[in-house]
Amino acid sequence: MSTVLQEERSAVRQTETMRALVFRGPNQIGIERVPIPKPGVGEAVIRITLTTICGTDVHILKGEYKVQPGLVIGHEPVGVIHELGEGVTGYRVGDRVLVGAITPCGQCIDCLSGHWSQCGGPIGGWRFGNTINGAQADYLLVPHAQANLAKIPDELSDEQVVLLADIASTGISAAESADLRIGDTAAVFAQGPIGLCATAGARLKGASLIIGVESDPVRAAMAKRMGADVVLNFNECDVVAEIRRLTGGRGVDVAIEALGTQATFENALRVLKAGGTLSSLGVYSGKLAIPVEPFAAGLGDHKIVTTLCPGGKERMRRLLELVLHKKLDLTPLLTHRFKLEKITDAYKLFAEHRDGVMKVAIEP
Ligand SMILES: [Zn+2]
Ligand SMILES: [Zn+2]
Repeated sequence: MSTVLQEERSAVRQTETMRALVFRGPNQIGIERVPIPKPGVGEAVIRITLTTICGTDVHILKGEYKVQPGLVIGHEPVGVIHELGEGVTGYRVGDRVLVGAITPCGQCIDCLSGHWSQCGGPIGGWRFGNTINGAQADYLLVPHAQANLAKIPDELSDEQVVLLADIASTGISAAESADLRIGDTAAVFAQGPIGLCATAGARLKGASLIIGVESDPVRAAMAKRMGADVVLNFNECDVVAEIRRLTGGRGVDVAIEALGTQATFENALRVLKAGGTLSSLGVYSGKLAIPVEPFAAGLGDHKIVTTLCPGGKERMRRLLELVLHKKLDLTPLLTHRFKLEKITDAYKLFAEHRDGVMKVAIEP
């Protein structure tokens, strides 16, 4: 191809635009036309075929979690490789891929220490819709593509895998970070999408008794479907006393906090046996206080662990295998479906918890 032709072509390409959900300030989001990204060295661009909205996106929309105005938000991408940058090997344009919400570089000190989510520093692995443009768009630029493109087995649909990018990876990690052993008892505080996946994770890890805590009847029913043996409504009973009773007075081996409030954190501590592990997934604001009595004045051998969504293509591959071999089915959580064009309606429904919504599928 002649240089002139090449230049003409790239000039045309530069004007190519796509639809994207752009954050302009608190409660100001909308679909805008923005340029389709071009991959640089080590990067890829994927055409999004399915994505979803996360509770974190709602925090961004409300201005509770700060991002730069002008940013495209969303961090749960399933798509098809549209263009590969230089240096990305083993992939072809057209490959179907899942990309985790967290995109580690795989090369920095934090990554090489096994803390992929903390790539380059605290929370550094979370880039999409946080520090770089995100997935609620027609196309998405994937940084560190070699470490982050997970090929989707042909047998699996987009719907079966989209929730692996974030909530499943995060939720399941609670039991993993707690080193939950076969036969352990577990309590999971809050059964929103992440709590439901935490419940599924406790079941996958082999918990003997899983106690969910949730007041919403739709979510309580879903908790049973995902693996909870008992679901306690905190409006109807003394949850701490009831969990103590259900565990023969001992308390649970693992208490998972999946909401991010002082009350749930504290109750998770109160139901823990001596030597037990509090595994925290919630995002807290303000101050978090530890009451000394259930903490045995600091002498109870308790562990408190936290986890940000594990990402990277190897994490995604393992989760894909779980779905492929029918150990994990997240499709019941995809309760509603919207076109990208109507995504602000989807945000409304999701933020207001209307119509029994769990997660919304967003398609182009
Ligand atoms: Zn998220
Ligand atoms: Zn890194």
